[in-house]
Amino acid sequence: MILVEHAVVVTMDPGRRVLADGAVLVDGGRIAQVGRAADVRPPRTPDRVIDGRGGLVLPGFVDTHVHVSEHLSRGLVPDEVPVDRYLPDWYGPLYAAITPEEEAAAARLACLEMLRTGTTTFCEAGTLFDVVAVAEAVEAVGLRAILGRWTWDLARGPGRLAQTTDEALRLTEETLARVDRRRSGRVSAWPLLIGFGTASERLIRGAHALAERHGTGWGMMHFASHPSRKTADTLPLATLDAWGVLGPRTKLAHMVYVDPADIALLARRDVKVSHCPSAALKHVKGLAAHGRFPEMLDAGVSVSLGGDSANGSNHLDMLRLMYLAALVAKDARLDPGVLPPERVLEMATLHGARALGLEAEIGSLEPGKRADLVILDLDRPEWRPLLDPVSALVYSASAASVRTVMVDGRVVLDDGRVTTVDERAALADVERLARPYLARAGLGVRPRWPLTD
Ligand SMILES: [Zn+2]
Repeated sequence: MILVEHAVVVTMDPGRRVLADGAVLVDGGRIAQVGRAADVRPPRTPDRVIDGRGGLVLPGFVDTHVHVSEHLSRGLVPDEVPVDRYLPDWYGPLYAAITPEEEAAAARLACLEMLRTGTTTFCEAGTLFDVVAVAEAVEAVGLRAILGRWTWDLARGPGRLAQTTDEALRLTEETLARVDRRRSGRVSAWPLLIGFGTASERLIRGAHALAERHGTGWGMMHFASHPSRKTADTLPLATLDAWGVLGPRTKLAHMVYVDPADIALLARRDVKVSHCPSAALKHVKGLAAHGRFPEMLDAGVSVSLGGDSANGSNHLDMLRLMYLAALVAKDARLDPGVLPPERVLEMATLHGARALGLEAEIGSLEPGKRADLVILDLDRPEWRPLLDPVSALVYSASAASVRTVMVDGRVVLDDGRVTTVDERAALADVERLARPYLARAGLGVRPRWPLTD
């Protein structure tokens, strides 16, 4: 039993209570009590009491679109590479060359970054090859995740990137079974299609059918992303609906190019949308001109946030994602009232939980939910004066104030120290593996301003 007491507690509960002197009592993996510090009464002496004074407690963030394998090539792709060359010239060779050891090292790095920036749950983009190796890395760091195997059938690539529809479905089904069998409770798998127009009708229907059979959600991880550009991402949302595959357990990522009929359809089918603001901006998807995320939220669509990839975003820092989501929408509408910080924080927590079908378990600090929480250090200049904690969180705080993180009631970051894995060794592994991996993929590292002795 762990008691966090005398902290500012942003509950995200149905009343959206923010407690000035609050406490959270954790029993095992779950939250037992949340309330004013004076009202939270442990039934026995807690094993540990965390003094929350000078701290703010939040539910852990949920990132609904992450490519963990790409962390080994972070920052490799030069800015001037045109959008239509990413997949054939860069991502294809990178994904074709990666080994299980490299994939696990990249996943550890991505998980450590998420942990240190307050994200406790994420959904991979369906771009993994050795899902079990990645599941082990995620479990070692201690995060909660939904993973998915590389799945496409229309696009081609070197080696194992070439897949028939039957192979893609068989590999997905194997992944669901192998990750399910682990039963760690924190890591599971979904049928996750890469998207970008790389999936046939039969693959999409097959992925949906597998999700139904296994009782999971399914996702199309790059949809309505670049139709105005030179990609094959042109499948209309109405066509997916005609195939009967849209529903509350469908997650579509990016969704920059939607019209009012699409938004009405997303709301009607309760489809979950993952908005990736940093990737939309860096990959010039036309977010400010075309994005309709405030309108989706107004229409009742659940919109969460995604950090995307290490060459398309290049970070998984939810505080920066919230900041971008709020500000780009305001400027695009010439209306500072669009996407207020409270709404953006809902995207990063409650909507993220909904997107992954985990709304009964995570996304808010309420008795009975999983104890996934973050404690931020308020004794830093950017938080002061603490007039409005939610405004400060979205507009002025940085992830450097993330101090302690708990997942399933287990303290995985303890006052700035990672408790689960050897963080220095994980970073050293990444340095050791990255350059030989990139060389094997045939990709040179050429900074415009090279490192010199
Ligand atoms: Zn992506």
